[in-house]
Amino acid sequence: MTIRSISEQQIAAVLNPENAFSAVQDVFASMESEAWNFPVVRESLGYQDALYGFKSGFDPASGALGLKAGGYWPNNGAKGIANHQSSIFLFDPDTGQCKAILAGNTITALRTAAAAAVSIDRLAIAAPTTFGLVGTGHQSAFQLEAALRVRSFREILIWNRSGRDLSKHHQIAEKYGAACREAELEEVVRSSQVIITITSCFEALFPGDWVSLGTHIAAMGTDTKGKQELDPALTSRALRFTDEIVQSRTIGEFQHLSSDVVITTIGALIRGTASGRTDEEQVTVFDGTGVGLQDLACAQAVAEAIGDS
Ligand code: NAD
Repeated sequence: MTIRSISEQQIAAVLNPENAFSAVQDVFASMESEAWNFPVVRESLGYQDALYGFKSGFDPASGALGLKAGGYWPNNGAKGIANHQSSIFLFDPDTGQCKAILAGNTITALRTAAAAAVSIDRLAIAAPTTFGLVGTGHQSAFQLEAALRVRSFREILIWNRSGRDLSKHHQIAEKYGAACREAELEEVVRSSQVIITITSCFEALFPGDWVSLGTHIAAMGTDTKGKQELDPALTSRALRFTDEIVQSRTIGEFQHLSSDVVITTIGALIRGTASGRTDEEQVTVFDGTGVGLQDLACAQAVAEAIGDS
């Protein structure tokens, strides 16, 4: 069997916020039945401060079988490349033969943004006015665009701990007709009805009581043991959702809560077997830990879109 090699450029030509949203939403629903993720391997390399590992899974319904290998190299920025680096391998579920190797960076960016967007679509109040973005690294502009696709906002407030080029963020805001400016973290949190956190933080970014009633937070940065973005005082009183409960309790935001708290999968919400927000005052939190099946679903969509060309 010939192994196809698919580059970032080929992927960027066919994968976009819209089809990534569909692929991710569908696979979250599949995870409620027969699709499953294998235990994540994620290790500190002890070299270049890098975290490296594997995310893998199988969806019998779509035939997506494979893995993503890669991780986070925090010193890459100085080399002019993204800190997140990965590659995705797709296998034929009937034979185990490798079918394709795909560059993983664009897929990671779009599938992570899509997960937050699915949660916003399902859990945010119907008519928010202000969107808060906490963190302005590589992933952040993807998160912003995916969020703006599912709700309209009058204003976008952005905070980062240090100055960054926000020209991409401003372009996206303009495309969706929203005003956009930087603000102090407290204003971002207190004023926003929808917030995405996307940082590499190891402690709560802000006190939980800054969060207003009715807010939905998609916490997307915590994907490793020890990392944390949200105050447990907030997550313990919020309605809690995640992509995968085991990951959430081990490498996600809810690792910082006691093991008996109730967590609902976003897949159950999509399938209609669990309920979400029941009033405009509840605070909802989605812990997006990032599952292998998100990568495989998007990789499969790319391979199908490209066909034999
Ligand atoms: P990046 O390195 O480009 O940006 C990191 C961001 O975190 C920057 O805005 C930086 O200022 C901020 N930050 C770092 N430490 C901080 C601290 N102590 N307090 C406040 N802000 C801090 O990374 P990225 O590619 O934008 O990814 C952001 C995070 O999201 C990473 O930690 C990454 O591992 C995680 N991530 C998660 C998923 C998922 O599926 N859950 C997918 C991709 C990335």
